[in-house]
Amino acid sequence: MTLSLVLAAVCLTAAVFSGCSRSVEREFFAMDTYMRIRIYGGSEEAADDVRAEIERLSALLSATDERSEIYALNHSGGSAVTLSHDSFEVLKRGLDISNEFGDVFELTLRPISRAWGFTEDENRVPSDAELKHLLELADDSRLILDERSNTARLPDGFEVDTGAVAKGYAADIAKALLTEKGVEAALIDLGSSTILAYGNKPDGSRWKIAVKDPKGGSEPAGLIEFDGGAISTSGGYERYFEGPDGQIYWHIIDPRTGAPARTGALSVTVLTDEAFFGDALSTALFVMGPEGAAEYYEAHGGFEYLMFLEDGGVIISPGMERLFTLSE
Ligand code: AMP
Ligand code: MG
Repeated sequence: MTLSLVLAAVCLTAAVFSGCSRSVEREFFAMDTYMRIRIYGGSEEAADDVRAEIERLSALLSATDERSEIYALNHSGGSAVTLSHDSFEVLKRGLDISNEFGDVFELTLRPISRAWGFTEDENRVPSDAELKHLLELADDSRLILDERSNTARLPDGFEVDTGAVAKGYAADIAKALLTEKGVEAALIDLGSSTILAYGNKPDGSRWKIAVKDPKGGSEPAGLIEFDGGAISTSGGYERYFEGPDGQIYWHIIDPRTGAPARTGALSVTVLTDEAFFGDALSTALFVMGPEGAAEYYEAHGGFEYLMFLEDGGVIISPGMERLFTLSE
């Protein structure tokens, strides 16, 4: 008997007792990153459908694709743009987050990200005067959404970037779709910075996620073992360049200065129920820095986090202590 026949026989026998433990996997490129989805006990069709759904969201939410709805809004010259349900939802929930986190989180940072070259990959260090001017274009209160007509309006020159939340949104939608299709467990890994796991693995083991070395090393910095939920990481190492002054400049911007956020954090990983909130939260905690993040955690709770610091330290929240193992 060939190996695959043996496996099929084992799977058939197991199916009688616990449901077939066969997993189906898809790997693909979307939202500027390699994604990997593994579903347990689901069909090839369910895996194809979830991939197609994420690709659809990627096309809607891209700020660089000239056919996207976000691109249309960013180039609308101040007129109202009609959006699909998903784009509207991302902006609406993004604005809620922006209100929740105040001045550390802005959707309208794209002109500033572009000045640093993070949108075009032609990196440069903008002058203080340029940033001062561009900071006037970073103000989420100028993004006006009208729920009755599903339209959005941005003043001419303003541009939104959903990069801090798009993958989180896609992960939640992917989970909803898979659940609807009867998939009982899945690992939805949207480029390792946004991971959502739900259900019980057939072998009964917990979900395991490696946390990347925030200094860019090839070995993981540690391991999170958990029963399900969303894990989101924001790190300077994900996109950065070295300036002519020898300094490292990364893609997470402090909206109060227009410069990369240097608050002592190298990376932040959060565990939340929902991926959208987790995605936004990891970005916001990064900008808040160690003290601000600790205060936010004390005041709000409802999540766990760990933060790697530039000075070599690591902050681990009490609930995360029980799940995280630091590499030797
Ligand atoms: P993440 O990797 O989820 O932390 O998202 C980082 C991306 O969000 C960046 O590449 C920018 O597109 C965008 N971004 C950077 N800084 C901020 C910020 N302070 N608030 C909202 N979005 C941001
Ligand atoms: Mg984020």
